[in-house]
Amino acid sequence: MVRCEVCGRAPAGRFCLRCNAIVCESCFDPSAEKCVVCTRLPQKGFQKVGAEILSWFMRLFLVGLAVAFVGSLLVLLSLPGEGSGVFIILIGPIPIGLGYGSHASTLAAVSLILVTACIIVTLYVRKRLR
Ligand SMILES: [Zn+2]
Ligand SMILES: [Zn+2]
Repeated sequence: MVRCEVCGRAPAGRFCLRCNAIVCESCFDPSAEKCVVCTRLPQKGFQKVGAEILSWFMRLFLVGLAVAFVGSLLVLLSLPGEGSGVFIILIGPIPIGLGYGSHASTLAAVSLILVTACIIVTLYVRKRLR
């Protein structure tokens, strides 16, 4: 007689579809066709890992987005002939603006506002993901 792989006492007559364990009637959930060990396991194990990967992708995407945004900002604001430009560096959530030329302070102010807006949107999206 094969004994139940879960409780080790009762004679087994059922197969778990998930882990293939041979279990007894009392250690088997007929509705799920799984053993009690598998039914107790969080079914979202896979989904949880997926969500974690997704959140990491989302973070990378948002960082990439911020970098691309700052990059395009530099191109827009450093138009030839203007004689002024601005650099925005993001150190974590803190934007640091460096400007040069006659419109540097204006450009720096505008781009700082834009970058701040971008960060607020980023934080908002991240908050909603949770
Ligand atoms: Zn059992
Ligand atoms: Zn099982």
